[in-house]
Amino acid sequence: MDGSKINDKAVTEEMLLEEGYRKYSGEDLDIYYSKDICAHIGNCVRGNKAVFEVGRRPWIIADNGGIEEDIRVINTCPSGALKYIRKDGK
Ligand code: SF4
Repeated sequence: MDGSKINDKAVTEEMLLEEGYRKYSGEDLDIYYSKDICAHIGNCVRGNKAVFEVGRRPWIIADNGGIEEDIRVINTCPSGALKYIRKDGK
């Protein structure tokens, strides 16, 4: 699933916060997570434990992965619980 969009529309921070996503800020991109949407399938944790680690606080640390790596893992989330917004305008 494309983590930069919802229903084919590019996500905005306003949209995500309104939908109940929580923000995990990084230097190059911000990751957003909705626990209500999460299906606990674990692709994120299996994908990169440095970025996504259940039980750690915060459980998502965007800067522990590169921008492309973060996006790769986010896009494996099947439920849409993970979204991202790049800060480089790409
Ligand atoms: S990949 Fe998505 S649905 Fe699966 S545990 Fe991670 S956030 Fe939840």
